[in-house]
Formats: sequence, structure tokens, C-alpha cells
Amino acid sequence: MTKSERTDNRKLDEIRPMKMKIGVIKRADGSAEVEFGDTKVVAAVYGPRQIHPRHQERPDRSVLRCRYNMLPFSVSDRKRPGYDRRSTELGKVITESLQPALFLEEFPKTAIDIDMEITQADAGTRTTAINAASLALAHAGIPMRDLVTSVAAGRANKKLLLDMTKEEEDAPDAVDLPVAMMPRTGKITLLQMDGIVSPEDIEKIVDIAEIGCMKIYEMQKKALLEKYSS
Ligand code: UDP
Repeated sequence: MTKSERTDNRKLDEIRPMKMKIGVIKRADGSAEVEFGDTKVVAAVYGPRQIHPRHQERPDRSVLRCRYNMLPFSVSDRKRPGYDRRSTELGKVITESLQPALFLEEFPKTAIDIDMEITQADAGTRTTAINAASLALAHAGIPMRDLVTSVAAGRANKKLLLDMTKEEEDAPDAVDLPVAMMPRTGKITLLQMDGIVSPEDIEKIVDIAEIGCMKIYEMQKKALLEKYSS
């Protein structure tokens, strides 16, 4: 793909500038901050640790609990503080996208908690949160089959695009497909869709997202290597 008329002059298949920082929260077992353009997320991991309330305990595995929270100042219209239906849903889909990477059966009767705070939102907050959480899990030393890597691709103004901004997502024909995967095996752990699109375009959009994920994976590995070689 070549040059486009995207508002920020990116190529159609280009990811926004990424920043990944590991170990940003002193009091968590693992943490990371990830930025995709103007979308910024901090993730903090705790555990495996004793689970409260105790009735959530599972005798044969750890319970992964992900909380997604959009801070009031993260969006242009100040968001009402606290969890809502959207954040509850996102906590659930993020849990499901990370779970396949973990060996939860190795830590029975415990919880692994991940708090994700969206400090700045310009679309792609769930995917950025997954990338941050995945790095924070690795930083916490929790055994993983692979990192989980995530990005959305979609359509706006009749063009298939990778990593759309909020402005692009607001186009009348916009379709957004967030994807998460474990790049080593290619296993997809999250696939959502918002909008109407032909089956052929769905295949193309997923391909664009998968190629994007491979680039993000390289950045994630680089960030971890830098952290542990310094
Ligand atoms: N958004 C907002 N207020 C909200 C929820 C979302 O301004 O209460 C914006 C924000 O920029 C977010 C974007 O809409 O990133 C897209 O939200 P969506 O629910 O599609 O999830 P995301 O793409 O962030 O994973």
C-alpha cells in the first residue's frame, strides 16, 4: 500500500507512532505504558495472589480479572468517572483475549489482576490496553505461551485502513475490527466488529490487522529486551 489521504498523512497500512515503557508503576508486580499516537494506556499487574472475594476462588486454576477504565480527562467531553457498561464489557473481552496466553492451571486458588487505565483516548483503547497488559504480565514474571499483540483495522471513507484514529472511526461508512493474537502460533484471541462489511473485505481487514500485529510484536519484544539488558 502507498501514500494516502489520511488526516495524519500515514500510509493506509501504517500504525501510529508507538511508545512502550516497561516498569512504570512501582507498587505493582508488573506494569507498562503503551502509546499509539494520541491513545495512551497504563497497565498494572498484581499476582498471582490470594483471591478476594473468596467465593471466586477456583481449586484448579488462577482467575484472571481485567479492569478497563477510561479516565475522565482521557476524552474531549469529560467522561463520568468510574466503571460503566462499556468498561465492564471491555474488561471481559480483554480477559478473554489474554487468557489463552497464560498457564492459569499452574496457580490454583489465586487471582491475577490487571488494571488498565486509559489516560488519553483517540480510538484503539482496547487494543492498546491489551498490548500494555501483555507487557505488564511479562514484567510481572508470569509465565506465558506468547505475548498477546493487538491492533484494529477497518474501513473509513471507502478505504481499508490499519489503526484508525477517532476522526477516521467517525466516518459515515466506518467499520472497525479489533484483533488480538499470539503471533508465534497465529492464534487469534480477539475478533470484534463494529459496522457492516462484505465477507471479502473482512478477510482483507483481518489480514491487514495480522500484519500490523507482527510489527507490534517486534516492538514489544524490543521493549522487553531493552528493559532487561539495561
Ligand atoms: N470514546 C469517547 N467517550 C467514550 C467512549 C469512547 O470519546 O465514553 C471515544 C474514544 O476516543 C475511544 C473511541 O471513542 O477510543 C472508540 O471507542 P470504542 O468503544 O470503539 O473503543 P476503542 O476503539 O477505544 O477500543
